[in-house]
Amino acid sequence: MDFGVIDLDAGQLDFWKEVDAFLDEHVTRAVHEEEERTGSGHNQAVHEALGQRGWIMPRWSKAEGGAELDEVRAHILQLELDRHNLPNVTIATTGMTVAVVRAHGNDSLKAKVLPGVASGHTKICLGYTEPDGGSDLAGVRTRATRVEGGWVINGAKMFTTGAHNCQYSMLVTRTDPEAPKHRGITVFLVPLDGPGIEIQPVHTLGGERTNAVFYDNVFIDDDHRLGPVNGGWAVMSAPLDSEHGVKDANGLAEISGGTQYGMTLRKLLWHAARWADTPDAEGVRPFDDRIVRAQLAEIALDLETIRNSKGPMGRVIASEKLIERAAELLDLVGVDGVLPRGAEGAIEDGVLEWGNRFAQGTAIYGGTTDIARNIIAQHTLGLPRPPKVG
Ligand SMILES: Cc1cc2nc3c(=O)[nH]c(=O)nc-3n(C[C@H](O)[C@H](O)[C@H](O)COP(=O)(O)OP(=O)(O)OC[C@H]3O[C@@H](n4cnc5c(N)ncnc54)[C@H](O)[C@@H]3O)c2cc1C
Repeated sequence: MDFGVIDLDAGQLDFWKEVDAFLDEHVTRAVHEEEERTGSGHNQAVHEALGQRGWIMPRWSKAEGGAELDEVRAHILQLELDRHNLPNVTIATTGMTVAVVRAHGNDSLKAKVLPGVASGHTKICLGYTEPDGGSDLAGVRTRATRVEGGWVINGAKMFTTGAHNCQYSMLVTRTDPEAPKHRGITVFLVPLDGPGIEIQPVHTLGGERTNAVFYDNVFIDDDHRLGPVNGGWAVMSAPLDSEHGVKDANGLAEISGGTQYGMTLRKLLWHAARWADTPDAEGVRPFDDRIVRAQLAEIALDLETIRNSKGPMGRVIASEKLIERAAELLDLVGVDGVLPRGAEGAIEDGVLEWGNRFAQGTAIYGGTTDIARNIIAQHTLGLPRPPKVG
């Protein structure tokens, strides 16, 4: 691993300032307040402003609606989006899935979808998990049945985050119930505004909004198929690889699989440090206690570990450190730490209380940390598959 510092040239530093100024202007306190209220992980006005600059798909060519950023500038943009805490769930799911549309969609589908993705008017969510289980993706039950001119879909998906803000769901379906379970799967890009689709909100302990989505005799034409019939297993793995941090969806260099959760831990640390630096009535700051300083310093070191842990290992470390440290921070600040946002006396307006709730879900999304450990065992360490239980 190369820990070398990159010397940025004048053009790159100017670009950094441009991004920072743009995000200061657009990712305002009002944007954060709306996100705290809705938990939607998306802000349409900011999304479209990014689209106007070509910064939703920053590596794409200008002709495709991108900005043709080189790897360093794209990384600067990503760092600043994270630092400004842009509500990012839908931009992330769109980025993961659009790579699949480019790779497996036919020309007509690509012409319909890709320009809108780049401009910010078209967004895509992930329709993988079902009410009966998410880890065993090959156990998918939602059926797509071939009919004259296309397919009819029946079934239910759970935790389709962002569906209420998206135009399409990348849907994993069973097309051959007789085939071995990995071989009877087909993936479709399903428009979410058609008849037979119902989206119901699901609110989580962590304050996020996700959705249950029901498909009742939904017709789509064959143009919406991504990849071969019954060959969906390979097609559906690409977004998960990117969610697990195996490969960045934009084709950038491999990054920590825990970047997102590391950002949350950094946010908690920043608020805890501000609390620690605030003197009480006698002028004493928590920072003056070396135990407090040591605890905060340990979290800062965790952030470095997360930043430098690649792929699924980064995903496991980030989530587990976030859960552990978010709880410790509540102990550190004392009983007022559990007062929620808006309550009188809440520390840092309840951010630490929120952080502790939010942290719990991070061990689940995009495949649990248990599943990430299986991936590390099999793909990184070359160990045999775990034995089947039951
Ligand atoms: C807030 C939120 C947002 C989400 N967003 C999306 C989304 O946008 N799209 C989408 O498709 N899904 C989404 N998910 C679903 C998520 O990917 C699943 O919850 C996750 O994959 C786990 O599936 P499950 O909840 O059905 O648990 P299960 O698969 O039923 O697992 C239950 C428990 O058993 C363990 N387990 C299961 N199998 C194994 C194994 N082989 N080895 C070791 N342990 C195992 C799991 O780690 C877990 O602890 C979201 C979930 C949440 C909570």
